[in-house]
Amino acid sequence: MHTYDMIINGRAVPGAATFEVVNPATGAPFARVAAGDASHVDAAVEAARAAFPAWSRTPDERRQALIGQLADLLETHMAELMELLTRESGKPLIGLDGIGSQMEVGGAIAWTRVTGGLSLPVEVIQDDAEARVEVHRKPLGVVGSITPWNWPLMIAIWHVIPALRAGNTVVLKPAEATPVATARFVALANGILPPGVLNVVTGTHGSGIGSAIAGHPGIDKIVFTGSTPTGKRIMGAAAGNLKRLTLELGGNDAGIVLPDVDPAAVARKIFKAAFHNNGQTCACLKRLYVHESLYEALCNALAAQARAVVVGDGMCEGTELGPLQNEEQRRIVQALADDARARGARLLAGGGPIAGPGYFFQPTIVADLSNGTPLVDEEQFGPILPVIRYRDIDEAIALANDNPNGLGGSIWSNDIALASTLARRLECGTAWVNEHGAIQPDAPFGGVKQSGIGVEFGLHGLAEYTSLQTVKIMKC
Ligand code: NAD
Repeated sequence: MHTYDMIINGRAVPGAATFEVVNPATGAPFARVAAGDASHVDAAVEAARAAFPAWSRTPDERRQALIGQLADLLETHMAELMELLTRESGKPLIGLDGIGSQMEVGGAIAWTRVTGGLSLPVEVIQDDAEARVEVHRKPLGVVGSITPWNWPLMIAIWHVIPALRAGNTVVLKPAEATPVATARFVALANGILPPGVLNVVTGTHGSGIGSAIAGHPGIDKIVFTGSTPTGKRIMGAAAGNLKRLTLELGGNDAGIVLPDVDPAAVARKIFKAAFHNNGQTCACLKRLYVHESLYEALCNALAAQARAVVVGDGMCEGTELGPLQNEEQRRIVQALADDARARGARLLAGGGPIAGPGYFFQPTIVADLSNGTPLVDEEQFGPILPVIRYRDIDEAIALANDNPNGLGGSIWSNDIALASTLARRLECGTAWVNEHGAIQPDAPFGGVKQSGIGVEFGLHGLAEYTSLQTVKIMKC
């Protein structure tokens, strides 16, 4: 079994012990990773602070060229990284309609190239006989990045690349369940970047690494992707030195299907939006509101998709959905299914675990629930979709907005003008029409309400890794 070290100040650091990373398709360990602790966070922050002056003063073109080399590196190691991602996260190599590890590494490459090419030029507010007023974007210092287990490499890239592009240095902490592809990427990247610019600290649940980063006085900003409760804890811990925060938190995205839609035409797209990566994506469609006129037809079409989808080990060709990433997540999904059944809901497909090794669960479609029940109100983060009946569109919009989360939402209709107007009434950071969950590296993405603070991607995302400095030069 291969062991993956931490990388601090350009050097491999084994830590005092290692821990095993489990393949969720088999329940068996497949890799070992260095078990770090808060002392490694201190060492990584020291290295990142030491590297910051030179990295932040490195000319833009040089930083852009090095980031371009990181994208080349990801391309060269694509097959290896895909396999590591499938073994640690369970997502299939190719997956449902192409949403799997290949897409994760491909996305990492695309985001690296596009973000590396962005620039935040100096803004000139005034330039006359009296004075010149310029607004500069300056890097913040050391960025602490904390990532979740669902898209581990791509989310690490979303954090690291804009931070580096803007001139910051980084201490990265991957989720304890999925640290392998990230640790491998950082090791490779340190063959290109100067020592201390990008560090990774790994450890077990309870190692205290995450809270050490959140509270560290030597860290200037935290970028965190994960659950809302953890985001709130980080926000509290970060107050000590007023760290800047980007928080990408939980979602409970609603989709609304209008009466003019042909159920057969949208069922596959909606199924993909809800079930890709086994529902373990922040912006999966997690509550589906369907007009009563097509309710039964769409429920049945979705149930047929759920029964036909190929569930299995992600390493096998043709697998569309893998296992849940961990046993605890499967337990949460089972409890939601059991609660729905106890409330008299109809389980049109699935409803239980799949026998055998690994954390597999049947893709599940649940009809006849309403707001005010756990499966509708809470983020399920698994392969189970509640389908809710509505009568009029104002009622549907109100039900969709009746949730503390506000990450994404969607309207499905052949009337594009009406759908676009309704999309803007959804309380969420991204609203889609006849689509759900599609993101791109040049459009801002983030949550409103309790789904987060700030955005990622594009110029708006890059700006979050900088502070503004106004420079006023008197001419007389
Ligand atoms: P999590 O909050 O349990 O863990 C995320 C990370 O935080 C892990 O690395 C974990 O070790 C670390 N952590 C835990 N406690 C900490 C603490 N006290 N201080 C600092 N760090 C701590 O989330 P998860 O279960 O790994 O991920 C699933 C959640 O992430 C879902 O809610 C999902 O919606 C959300 N998510 C959001 C987005 C987005 O862009 N909004 C994207 C992906 C996932």
